[in-house]
Amino acid sequence: MLLRSTLSLAALASVAALLAWGCAPASPEDDQELDGEEPTEETDAPVSNGNVEQAMSSTCSTASIKPLSQQIIDEMKCMAPNQFVDVPSRPNLVMGEAVFPYLIKPARDRLVQALDANPNKTMNVASMFRTVAQQYMLRRWKEQGRCGIKAAATPGNSNHETGLAIDLSPNSSWRSALESRGYDWFGSGDPPHFDYFGPGAVSQKGLDVEAFQRLWNRNNPNDKIDEDGAWGPQTQSRIKKSPAKGFPIGATCGSDADPQPDPQDDPTPQPQGEPWSCDGSTGTTPVEGGEYVATSFGCSVLEDGTVISDPGDNCIPACFSQLKSSGVCSSSSSGATCEKQINWYAADRDRFGCGTKLRVTEPSSGKSAIVMVIDAGPACWVEETVDMGVVDLSYRATEHLFGGQVGVSEKQMVKVEVVSADTPLGPQ
Ligand SMILES: [Zn+2]
Repeated sequence: MLLRSTLSLAALASVAALLAWGCAPASPEDDQELDGEEPTEETDAPVSNGNVEQAMSSTCSTASIKPLSQQIIDEMKCMAPNQFVDVPSRPNLVMGEAVFPYLIKPARDRLVQALDANPNKTMNVASMFRTVAQQYMLRRWKEQGRCGIKAAATPGNSNHETGLAIDLSPNSSWRSALESRGYDWFGSGDPPHFDYFGPGAVSQKGLDVEAFQRLWNRNNPNDKIDEDGAWGPQTQSRIKKSPAKGFPIGATCGSDADPQPDPQDDPTPQPQGEPWSCDGSTGTTPVEGGEYVATSFGCSVLEDGTVISDPGDNCIPACFSQLKSSGVCSSSSSGATCEKQINWYAADRDRFGCGTKLRVTEPSSGKSAIVMVIDAGPACWVEETVDMGVVDLSYRATEHLFGGQVGVSEKQMVKVEVVSADTPLGPQ
């Protein structure tokens, strides 16, 4: 179990210095700060062309730095792969396009239980995970009296940054279902806000700060800062200068050597594979023999031009920052535009890696397609329903292989092989 230390005394001192600089009341801050009334993240505002400070000054939406935030999240998932996890789509779960659906695993599992136990009730999530860069913007707006922000924790100190908090609007219909599963309603001071205090509620405080520090150092080798997970003047000054559109090099999951997929690379070696297993949030080892159950997901365009906008998926590929920095998708594209542009894609990033190309073959017809790995998932709990590996494929790919959409319960088998990076995407 990865445990993050709480904020150091030095960091608290720097928080106090920051407050003095921001002309806020000189009351001592404790390290259990909670936010007050918060903005929702329902809008998908345009991404700023500038840095975080410029986005902070010129907008009132943290969606203006969404690609940078997604890089911080991707890096956190690399750092704590089985603990900081995706919230899966559910039929009764509604989230705005700008909501980041991530929680720590026990909080995620109990939220999903609550949803599945109340299938006829819709949960509207206004805000869930928030990065240190977003929290910096909120805090500055609060200090400046802008954007309607009346309260905001100092960066590094919000439970929304540790995957322990969700905001629901309205909250009342979900209070009993959540409170019986370890969630605590904050109360009338912040009506949408729930914190998870149930079993396994470990605060990975500072994980998002450290993820940012790692990204900064990877992209600024001549201006390295401490990777200590503590918010302070060094980190603040780098956040202000960071590009809203994200760094050239995004999350790398431990391989700093060659983070960008290079189309000129030699064919990727076929992974050896192991018998199916999935005991974290997603499977991480290719399955021996390459046999998977196929499912359809994401935004894509069918052969006849029909546009699929999957209501059960946010259509933001987990590999989005890599896809943009490697030029697969344009830097200004939205997640859905990027997915529709690639059109032939798969998930299972944690088994195969972002940008890897796969040949997927339907064994009875012999039909096959080349797809690119662009997203995370499926969750282990999905694979556990069939006790096999599952490969999520774009609707366009399953249309070609099966004549339409397939779900996991149909147990449609495909054979999956890694192919070289220069193989063209599409039907074969
Ligand atoms: Zn909240």
